[in-house]
Amino acid sequence: MQIVVGGGLTGLFAARYLQSCGEKVILLEQAPELGGLFKGLPGPNGDSCEGNAFCIGIRYGLTTGVEAIDTLLFEDADERYVSYTESLPEGNYYNGQLNNNTGCIDVRSLPPTLYQKGIVELIEAEGVNGEEKNKREVLINQYGKTFTEEVYGKAVKKIFGLSLEDFEVNGALSLISPRLVAFDSRASLELKKVARLNGLLGYTKKTDNPQSEIKKYFPKNGSTGLWIRDLTQRIESNGGVIYSGVGIKSVQTSEGKVSTVALDDGQELECTNVIWTAPLIHLARLLDVTVPSERPRFLNTGIYNLVVDQPPLSETHWITVYDQEFKSYRLTLYSNISPVKDVGQGYRISIEVLDEREIEEAELRIALRQELVDLGILPKGYKVLWDDFIEFPNAWPVSLTGKDFVDDQAQIIRKHVDNVFMTGRGIKGQYFQLPILLHTHEMLSKHFG
Ligand SMILES: Cc1cc2nc3c(=O)[nH]c(=O)nc-3n(C[C@H](O)[C@H](O)[C@H](O)COP(=O)(O)OP(=O)(O)OC[C@H]3O[C@@H](n4cnc5c(N)ncnc54)[C@H](O)[C@@H]3O)c2cc1C
Repeated sequence: MQIVVGGGLTGLFAARYLQSCGEKVILLEQAPELGGLFKGLPGPNGDSCEGNAFCIGIRYGLTTGVEAIDTLLFEDADERYVSYTESLPEGNYYNGQLNNNTGCIDVRSLPPTLYQKGIVELIEAEGVNGEEKNKREVLINQYGKTFTEEVYGKAVKKIFGLSLEDFEVNGALSLISPRLVAFDSRASLELKKVARLNGLLGYTKKTDNPQSEIKKYFPKNGSTGLWIRDLTQRIESNGGVIYSGVGIKSVQTSEGKVSTVALDDGQELECTNVIWTAPLIHLARLLDVTVPSERPRFLNTGIYNLVVDQPPLSETHWITVYDQEFKSYRLTLYSNISPVKDVGQGYRISIEVLDEREIEEAELRIALRQELVDLGILPKGYKVLWDDFIEFPNAWPVSLTGKDFVDDQAQIIRKHVDNVFMTGRGIKGQYFQLPILLHTHEMLSKHFG
């Protein structure tokens, strides 16, 4: 019996994959619901999967380009989900301006003298030389001093509450667009032919983006919860057993292998292997193994879900807000994503807030509602028909060093037990679904075929 721990996307994929290799699977999820950061959140009709439901993090399932993964994750998806192959309509708000053409920060909205100084420095920058002592020096060598300070310095302050010097050379500014829009469409396309500038410049218009091989799936009517429900049902209909809402009390080991997993409700499960997709610190505690507890600081994420009476004024799917005076970090405009418009039941909008908040929730809700008008997303006088605020502690790591603390933990655990496969959020320093799925597939396919 293969035991998969954690019922987020990684655990569900692992269970599907093992079943496709002919293995018997038990999946353990400590929360009452499956899905982890992909689970749905209920909207006004109380359903977390269908109708006016919401999502937590990413709104799309993304294909990986590896057939074995995509077939297991997206069986029948073309009928039940809307899919996109083109680049997604993303926008950003920077320097007092809403740009509906790109998710990249548009530096053309800077005051003309700063903008001109910035582009000269960007073109003349010599690139990194390996002598840099912190992230600020890295960025200066890539983008020049003006854009480093005006754009990245301020965005880092807003998002992480830190300065660029706080990040070591390899520290990850993961929530900030790494590319700038600095020119019109034609000039950007030309300059992107220069290898050094290609990584620094974004496309000015969505239509300039080359077609991607990656397909994005979003439920025609509902949230990512629907996808999770589909995957769960497939695991069960293939004979998989899922326990949710139950924790692991202890594990027994024998000759360097986990042999039994005991649950809080008294059940004891014998196992051949364990596929661990939950935080490794839990596994280390169960094994009584000391692992480094030093880890990145995490940002708590607040998600404010609203249903409003007016359609959004922007046609984008989501908008990232970089200006410091706004509390909103990213807005998702659901009625632009799904072709089944929310008409008749209002329009769904989510606002992600990323900070260690010192403000009362009621006050925050009022501020965020006002920001929807100030950002130009909704007209003045719009009405909120329904709202809900949910907090997710420890959602995003602030990796000051870029150091892979999860892999350090995995290495130590591996010395004690050799039948535990470790993957999931954080592995190899990855927090996005694509690299995590690729890693999981590579690891499992080596062992299980
Ligand atoms: C606000 C936000 C926005 C995001 N946006 C994007 C994006 O744009 N693009 C992208 O690719 N990714 C995005 N992500 C990240 C994406 O959601 C994750 O990469 C993905 O969900 C990771 O899945 P996972 O299964 O590895 O981890 P998780 O979803 O964290 O699942 C782990 C599961 O393990 C369970 N668990 C924990 N401890 C135990 C235990 N001891 N026993 C049993 N079960 C346990 C948890 O309850 C959870 O269900 C975003 C995340 C957030 C928070």
